Amino acid sequence: MYRAKQDGGNTLRFFAPEMQAHTRRSLELASGLKHAIEHGELFLAFQPQCALGSGVLTGAEALLRWRHPQWGLVSPAEFIPIAEQSGAIVAIDLWVLEHAARQVREWDAQGLPELVVAVNVSAAQFGRPHFVEEVLATLRRVGVEPQRIEMELTEAVALKQPEQAEITIRKLHAAGFLVALDDFGTGYSSMSYLKRYAIDKLKIDQSFVRELVDESSDQAIVTAIIRMAQSLGLRTIAEGVETAEQAQLLQAYGCDDMQGYWYSRPLEPQAFAAFAEHSLQLAT
Ligand code: C2E
Ligand code: MG
Ligand code: MG
Ligand code: MG
Repeated sequence: MYRAKQDGGNTLRFFAPEMQAHTRRSLELASGLKHAIEHGELFLAFQPQCALGSGVLTGAEALLRWRHPQWGLVSPAEFIPIAEQSGAIVAIDLWVLEHAARQVREWDAQGLPELVVAVNVSAAQFGRPHFVEEVLATLRRVGVEPQRIEMELTEAVALKQPEQAEITIRKLHAAGFLVALDDFGTGYSSMSYLKRYAIDKLKIDQSFVRELVDESSDQAIVTAIIRMAQSLGLRTIAEGVETAEQAQLLQAYGCDDMQGYWYSRPLEPQAFAAFAEHSLQLAT
């Protein structure tokens, strides 16, 4: 208080240097993102997903990575919100879809088992008037069937404009895409939406998995989600599975699939192909 008064009552001054550094980084990231695509700084990592019972590889989630020339690897948790604010997200999401599809085609050509690859869809992309048509045009150009792509929507994305979302999800479904609800349980999960939306899969958020083994409240929530999904005919996949104990519990609860460091970290395409070939050999 005393210092603040002495400085002319400007208490903000105490925080100014830190805030400035943070703002400067955000601004630099925002301007850098505009050129990240042209400069080839973006790439995709693919995290394997497997069936809990058999451990058989069932699919992968495409996760965006940005190698910034100055800051190094920047987390999507940091730059996706910035891209959403600046509007760069629309071009980025289309880039992700196109490159995920190209990767599917390449793995097919290499003789890998035909996997479904999931991509994350942002609110900005999902809300575009011709979203489904744009996505279909991209896949047609690359030469990949919609059946090979799963669209991951968060509840925040799906619930922004519920009537529009219902129509768009139905269109996605009709076109042959799989639709998953990401980070399930963290948003405003309204049960009526589960009935209304033509979704195939719930991704149980990793915040419920982290302390699953010790927290009875997490156990209650996860079992309830799985039971509800089962009676609605939806698949379930648990995110952020890091230990054998977590996997065992989830399997006992009847969860279908898992994704997490215990099975595999996100992998670059070559490493993913090697992983897939290896797991295929184990399965046969
Ligand atoms: P998400 O879609 O829920 O993706 C799962 C996140 O959990 C990924 O973080 C993944 O690396 C991480 N993860 C997977 N297994 C484990 C585990 O066992 N333990 C822990 N602690 N974490 C695990 P990542 O890659 O940093 O992505 C963060 C978020 O950024 C994603 O959350 C998604 O919301 C967003 N994102 C990533 N790629 C894209 C993209 O291409 N487009 C859009 N719009 N958003 C994306
Ligand atoms: Mg996701
Ligand atoms: Mg998630
Ligand atoms: Mg998440």
